[in-house]
Amino acid sequence: MIEFNNVEKVYPNGTEALKEINLHIDKGEFVAIIGLSGAGKSTFIRCINRMHDITGGKLHVDEINVGALKGKAIRKFRRKVGMIFQSFNLVNRTTVLKNVLVAFAPDNPFWRTLTGIYTKAQKRQALEALDQVGILDKAYMRVNQLSGGQQQRVALARTLAQEPDIILADEPIASLDPVTSKRVMKDFARINKELDITIVMNIHHVEVALEYADRIIGIRAGKVVYDGKASMVDEGVLKLIYEGDVEELNFAREENKDYVG
Ligand code: ADP
Repeated sequence: MIEFNNVEKVYPNGTEALKEINLHIDKGEFVAIIGLSGAGKSTFIRCINRMHDITGGKLHVDEINVGALKGKAIRKFRRKVGMIFQSFNLVNRTTVLKNVLVAFAPDNPFWRTLTGIYTKAQKRQALEALDQVGILDKAYMRVNQLSGGQQQRVALARTLAQEPDIILADEPIASLDPVTSKRVMKDFARINKELDITIVMNIHHVEVALEYADRIIGIRAGKVVYDGKASMVDEGVLKLIYEGDVEELNFAREENKDYVG
């Protein structure tokens, strides 16, 4: 469970990115965070795994006070809270399998990481993760030979190999075409349901968020202005979240036509 209690985030330059956030996310939920660009979505996600420090309130993940974690404990914590980025964060010139095996690097002695020697069990686990996202046949290809969607699946497999309880995804489909986006979103939905992994995803495409996520958190200027079922989001809710920028909402919806269905 992820628990926000009066969470605030003020960046050193004075920007108040999150204000009085109070909510909890249960195990197994699929949550999409939506809002205008600059609303605080990315900050929200990055505070959960301590990529950013909160500056007020308390944030707990499975009873762990995230703000109190230090050094090794942060690394251990991040194994349970996987992160997926828009840019995939892969090593392009090496194989898919090696990119997934990186998930085990923190467990191995330093010399093993250097020489790239992983145990048989780790290899098996990495191959299983690739199978879970349907790209086992690509294991020995180089990452730069794959399409964008396949690369995002490699990133997803790398995260799965860590056996996370939670996956945070920061705009995971932002650089993918509509057809590929749909496939990747289906992977997320399947992983969420089959493996009971909590997913918290930042997403620009409103209709995609409504189609795949169960719960929507709408953030506007650092505040939660909607928190409820995706099926309950109507025109009024969208106006509330995107108010002041109907143009951006129309844009976010217009480009979505091809992403759903
Ligand atoms: P979103 O993901 O919704 O686009 P962000 O969480 O990235 O929004 O940003 C929220 C606000 O915080 C914005 O005003 C942004 O300019 C600001 N911000 C984000 N990162 C930093 C940073 N490292 N330093 C200062 N301000 C930041």
